[in-house]
Formats: sequence, C-alpha cells, structure tokens
Amino acid sequence: MTTQTHHVDHELVQAAAHVARTRCRGGNHTVAAAARARDGRIVTAVNAYHFTGGPCAELVLIGAAAAEGAYDLETIVAVGDRGRGVLPPCGRCRQVLLDYFPALGVIVGEGDRVRTVPVTGLLPESYVWADQQLDAE
Ligand SMILES: [Zn+2]
Repeated sequence: MTTQTHHVDHELVQAAAHVARTRCRGGNHTVAAAARARDGRIVTAVNAYHFTGGPCAELVLIGAAAAEGAYDLETIVAVGDRGRGVLPPCGRCRQVLLDYFPALGVIVGEGDRVRTVPVTGLLPESYVWADQQLDAE
C-alpha cells in the first residue's frame, strides 16, 4: 500500500505561500492555507488566532470553501508566515480534515522532502466520527 505520492501541487503551495506573505499580519493571522477543490478551484484562508481556541487556517478554509460552494476538497496545504514554509496540520485539524474529506491529500514536508500524503496516513487508528453517530430513524 502506498502511503504517499510524489506528486505535489506546486501551484497550491505557491498560492498558500503568497497569502502567507501578503495577508498574514501580526499575531492574529500567522498561517495561510490553500486547498484545491474537486472542480479545480483554489480556495485560500488564514487562521484567526485567539486564546480561546481560534481556528487554524485549515478550519477557516473549510468554511471559506463552503461559502464559495466548494464542498469537496482534493488537496490542502498550510504555509507559515515569515518564510516558515509548509506546516503540517495540528492534531485537531487532522481529525476535522479526515472527517470532512476522507480522501484528502495533505502536502507536508519541507524543501526537497515536500510530498503529498493521504490524510488517513496522518492519523492512523483514528476515531471515525461518522461511525459513532446514532442512526437517525
Ligand atoms: Zn490546526
């Protein structure tokens, strides 16, 4: 079983890097995310930091994508401000991304190790939210 692919959507990485470079300001917005929707569109977002648990860029992106009618995401990447490069999703985002988009590819790694991995590979033996919901009858 292949746990990663070598194909990397460099246009997506560039889109996130551009937003990180041009839109992240101060301590409130420090990470940008970009996702490729199934129809080919690119959606971008930045995090909204708050000490009460403000959402990461990946979570803001899910809502931003839905607001544009993009409900099926193919690939996602997050890039840090101040030239920090590609950042892997945190634990919370891994769970949310897996539940929303089980077939999602996530771009991780840095430099010549940048690669696309399945979200399932980032969360082995994961809790499957849908499996725990009572059937609505
Ligand atoms: Zn996160």
